[in-house]
Amino acid sequence: MPEAQDPDQNARHQRRMEKRKAVVDAAIARANIQRGVVLVLTGNGKGKSSSAFGMVARALGYGYPCAVFQFIKGAIDTGEQAFFSSQPLVQWEICGEGFTWETQNLERDKELAQSGWQKAREALSNPDIRLVVLDEITYLFNYGYLALEPVLEAIKNRPAQQHVVLTGRAAKTELIELADTVSRIEEVKHAFRAGIAAQPGVDL
Ligand code: ATP
Ligand code: MG
Repeated sequence: MPEAQDPDQNARHQRRMEKRKAVVDAAIARANIQRGVVLVLTGNGKGKSSSAFGMVARALGYGYPCAVFQFIKGAIDTGEQAFFSSQPLVQWEICGEGFTWETQNLERDKELAQSGWQKAREALSNPDIRLVVLDEITYLFNYGYLALEPVLEAIKNRPAQQHVVLTGRAAKTELIELADTVSRIEEVKHAFRAGIAAQPGVDL
């Protein structure tokens, strides 16, 4: 038999929700600035690149042109690359051939990072592109493949309505300071540690 509803509990719940709605509505009314934002997705947990590519799907839902630059890991085929690179509104650039321990070629890695950055810089000055993803870019600074300063400058001088998402572990303080939104994803568990191979559709 279903439990009888306590009318007092219902009334208390409704009063609490009315108060909460007033607080939430006031916060929404205060946030009235319209401009492009910078997001940094960092930390050791899973979910940085897939979140960035999720924003590409969102932006495409509004018909916004997007540009994605995949640094470092371009040699690994992913479901997102297969899906998004055939979309007419997406520029998808592979700017790497794998992790340093895979490529084992410092000069080539640096060259790819530099030429990838030149293309990304064009996107960061193109007002038609509404979302730019710089995937795994943090490693370029951490490995010394790319200077941080020109990247910070290009992001600061980008078109007013353009959003930029930067991903990768160990984001430098300067990137975190520049960003409007920063998430540090914590690893609580990862299936790989239990011996489960990377799964298509989940991990790549
Ligand atoms: P994703 O692309 O799934 O959003 P990510 O961008 O947060 O992951 P990366 O460091 O770029 O993480 O690594 C991507 C790949 O490595 C994915 O296959 C992901 O499942 C795996 N991975 C991410 N974090 C971990 C971890 N902490 N331990 C083991 N594998 C991981
Ligand atoms: Mg990633």
